[in-house]
Amino acid sequence: MYLKTFVMLIAVFSTALVSTGCYSSTAELPSIKSLETPAHHTPEGFKNLYIDDGDKNFFSFVNIRLFGPEQWADHQALAAQVPTQIVNIERLHNPSTAGQVTWLGHSMFLLQHQGVTVLTDPIFSDYASPFSFTGPKRYIPHMMNYSQLPDIDIVVISHNHYDHLDTATIMQLGNTPQYYVPLGLKAWFVDAGINPKRVIEMDWWDMQQANTNTQIHATPSQHWSARGLGDRLETLWASWVITIGDYQVFFAGDTGYNPVQFKAIGAQFKHFDLALIPIGAYAPRWFMKNYHVNPEEAVQIYQDVRAKKAIGMHWGTYPLTAEAPIDPVLRLSEALIQQQTSTLTLNFGVFAIGETRGLHRLNL
Ligand SMILES: [Zn+2]
Repeated sequence: MYLKTFVMLIAVFSTALVSTGCYSSTAELPSIKSLETPAHHTPEGFKNLYIDDGDKNFFSFVNIRLFGPEQWADHQALAAQVPTQIVNIERLHNPSTAGQVTWLGHSMFLLQHQGVTVLTDPIFSDYASPFSFTGPKRYIPHMMNYSQLPDIDIVVISHNHYDHLDTATIMQLGNTPQYYVPLGLKAWFVDAGINPKRVIEMDWWDMQQANTNTQIHATPSQHWSARGLGDRLETLWASWVITIGDYQVFFAGDTGYNPVQFKAIGAQFKHFDLALIPIGAYAPRWFMKNYHVNPEEAVQIYQDVRAKKAIGMHWGTYPLTAEAPIDPVLRLSEALIQQQTSTLTLNFGVFAIGETRGLHRLNL
């Protein structure tokens, strides 16, 4: 009985770590110091610029999860709502010349174009948690054996929450990929045994030439970081721009919405062929809003960054928040109907987990 209660408490603790912020500080206006130091840097780490990071805490998450009025969906019972298909391994090893993209669940995409293979926020584990035996458990089976992935050239990591940065996964990928991570995260990789030369830390708006035809830019997002109770906001969070030849992808990472940062990204880059944007983990809204967009805000990001096409991610995989597995997709369809006009076509949809599509045939 005590053991069961204990396991339940650490499960809620793990969910809190990946679901919401828990830091007390006052939002500040950019000061004179910002002429030398970027406005999102603090002496201890980093901060968001368009929200107050201090209005929720870990205990308020436990309170709403255990005692709040919201009904939390039984994700396991509703898992059949999520479309899935077994990954076509043969296709992963023989990508079409026009390039292809595969959704492996949550925020994990495999992007293959012009001989370059990119993996976003990989998590191969059953639990998105500091523990290997409890926490938010993946309610959809894995659609492949990840040892059958092709060699990965580039991994981008949006931030250090457990559903985006998983120790066992990084150990499995080892020193084969080049890792691009937000400021402050390199030490974690080195501690995990990764060769320091394989990890490149970047601040928002930094650019790295990954190889002759590939550039990686770190761009802003509105989120937070922590892997425990004592390291809040110490490492940065980011979205990423991946440019392979003439094809440009925006990976939004994990983010809330503000009307500044995504418009700035859109103004800077102008021609995204594809955007990967979160649509899930938004309920209860009053609690999650600062750090997780809902489908309506995801559509706004798609429009702000001016992407031609977008795929919804961060849904249908781990039970992080109150909404049912398919709700993000239904709300996305409604949001698109609201926004679409006779002169404006919105090309924003979702994949089945495990699905691969050619980049030239992405009608979403
Ligand atoms: Zn997160």
